[in-house]
Amino acid sequence: MKVGIYPGSFDPVTKGHLDIIERSSKMVDRLIVAVLNNNAKSPLFSVKERVNMLKEVTKEIDNVVIDSFSGLLVDYAEKNHANIIVRGLRAVTDFEYELQMAQTNRIMDNNVDTIFLTTSLQYAYLSSSIVKEVAINNGDVSKFVPEYVVEQIQKKLNIS
Ligand code: ADP
Repeated sequence: MKVGIYPGSFDPVTKGHLDIIERSSKMVDRLIVAVLNNNAKSPLFSVKERVNMLKEVTKEIDNVVIDSFSGLLVDYAEKNHANIIVRGLRAVTDFEYELQMAQTNRIMDNNVDTIFLTTSLQYAYLSSSIVKEVAINNGDVSKFVPEYVVEQIQKKLNIS
């Protein structure tokens, strides 16, 4: 059984993430979308809220499961018998960091390979930070995130 992990912050999940989830879920038997519990970032949504949003927006994709993890990704991968890590590449600015991470993970565990999906062009500009920036300034984020996430952002920021 081919198990893949798509790790990230997903604060919150965007249509760009969802596009990568839909496409990569067709390449594996099981795709675990894993929210990283990262103390270094100060997130808008808690890990629990991010997991909940991901569950809601992926509920129609049968082989996708949502989870969270802390610590090293390779340890989490081994525990879940996954040997494929999925990441999305938007622009060259993503490349250097992603290459470094993929190589580091491979050195730490040579059973694990990272595959990169290039973002669909319509989402190439999109990031969770941009979504938060627009939302905080009362902009409309419905083009960027699924409807359920729009509602959760509005709740969180107390706007309607
Ligand atoms: P991280 O903090 O790990 O970068 P993100 O939630 O920002 O977490 O991103 C998770 C993954 O999704 C990364 O591989 C990132 O490159 C990818 N990604 C983010 N936004 C998009 C997008 N608009 N299109 C495709 N991939 C994306």
